Amino acid sequence: MPNLSAELSTVVVVGSGIAGASAAQTLRSEGFRGRVVLIGDEPALPYRRPTVSKDFLSGATAAEKTTLKPDSFWEEREIELITGATAVGLDTGRKRLTLSSGETLQFSALLLATGGKARRLDGVSGANVFTLRSMADADSLRASIRRTGSLLVIGGGLIGCEVAATARSLGAEVTVLERDPSLLSRIVPPEVSTMIASLHAENDVDVCTDVALSSLDVSDDGSARAVADDGRSWNAGTVLVSVGTVPEVTLAVAAGLRVHNGITVDGQFRTSADGVYAAGDAANIPGARDDERYRSEHWNGAQAQGIAAAQSILGKPTPFTDVPWGWSNQYGHTVQFAGATRFDDDYVIRGSIADRDFTAVAVREGMPVGVIAVGRPKDLRTVRTMIARGGAVDRAALADESVALTDVLAGEREGRVAAAR
Ligand SMILES: Cc1cc2nc3c(=O)[nH]c(=O)nc-3n(C[C@H](O)[C@H](O)[C@H](O)COP(=O)(O)OP(=O)(O)OC[C@H]3O[C@@H](n4cnc5c(N)ncnc54)[C@H](O)[C@@H]3O)c2cc1C
Repeated sequence: MPNLSAELSTVVVVGSGIAGASAAQTLRSEGFRGRVVLIGDEPALPYRRPTVSKDFLSGATAAEKTTLKPDSFWEEREIELITGATAVGLDTGRKRLTLSSGETLQFSALLLATGGKARRLDGVSGANVFTLRSMADADSLRASIRRTGSLLVIGGGLIGCEVAATARSLGAEVTVLERDPSLLSRIVPPEVSTMIASLHAENDVDVCTDVALSSLDVSDDGSARAVADDGRSWNAGTVLVSVGTVPEVTLAVAAGLRVHNGITVDGQFRTSADGVYAAGDAANIPGARDDERYRSEHWNGAQAQGIAAAQSILGKPTPFTDVPWGWSNQYGHTVQFAGATRFDDDYVIRGSIADRDFTAVAVREGMPVGVIAVGRPKDLRTVRTMIARGGAVDRAALADESVALTDVLAGEREGRVAAAR
């Protein structure tokens, strides 16, 4: 493997979210002395996006408390942070990036860390209809919730559920409309969905499932009326459309890069163009198995990818074996999840879902492939290690609370060693 770092003079990072910021930081911590430019189209310093649906939306945390690092951090490391600037043109042949200001930047390597954007619903728009991705979105949404006192959330996924909980803390009447039969059905089993629905019910959120929306009308005064195919209807002053995330690939597509549900990269975060890399929510990366690819939509995954991409740019690639994981906070409960679960997975439960203190391990073909935990961060870490390691797991031991999960993990290791002898 040639050491490319000798040929590098300028690394440009597009997108100053956690993936881009972590990459810029890693370039320096790994000893790169050339020019590092970090470009973000948002006006703020890089910040913790997960606060956007939680304490920043509620108003409990001020904008300056959400920043990843103070301004001085970037200056001291000689990372040229350009905020409020959009990269609008990428010439991969000439290795040149154009900004909306008309400025051009020559690069030896470029990282696309452009993240994602909220999916929109065709024909659904209006003064009080919002999507949520940025602090600016949260400012507008918060103001509308306060002004109107009622919120209709379309989409009962992670962000929809979090915003519902936050809006209750703002005193709003909240209704959640979910197309599927249960909340968060793409990532948690039905029992956990039921538990989350009961949390919302206890907090006076009206959760409506199996909703096939036939219309959403926004009147001139901003109030909205949603009608479902089966005749049910709802009125609210504010509407949040929270129906998923799509990768931000505008620049990549225009530059002719290979894109399929995100910017396609190999195991070293290299795109189809020489010297151009991608990481974070915008990237579609190889999974653990040869036939698997995925796009992470979680904070820690984007951070890990940014770090790994920077190492790769410096000619020091390491195998990327991260088991993706994320978390959600609702009404003071933290739900953590990891791995790649499917709706048809079989779960082994440790603890009690009803008591909101459990670890649910998804087991497929005898192997742990995913986990959901409430109030058990240590369990989550241990099961992530099991998933990364692969191999069969002892289901009875997994379910038995008297056996520590670390012992289950150690037992599996011993079993594998014994089997190999
Ligand atoms: C409301 C909300 C709550 C969340 N909560 C959680 C949570 O609790 N737990 C969790 O694990 N994950 C959570 N996530 C997901 C997590 O925040 C993302 O996975 C993570 O931020 C992705 O990081 P990223 O750097 O890849 O992209 P982003 O954070 O999207 O950053 C990309 C940046 O690039 C900018 N950009 C895009 N195109 C250009 C361009 N052409 N020129 C310049 N700049 C550009 C974007 O504006 C953005 O600032 C949440 C996400 C949202 C939206």
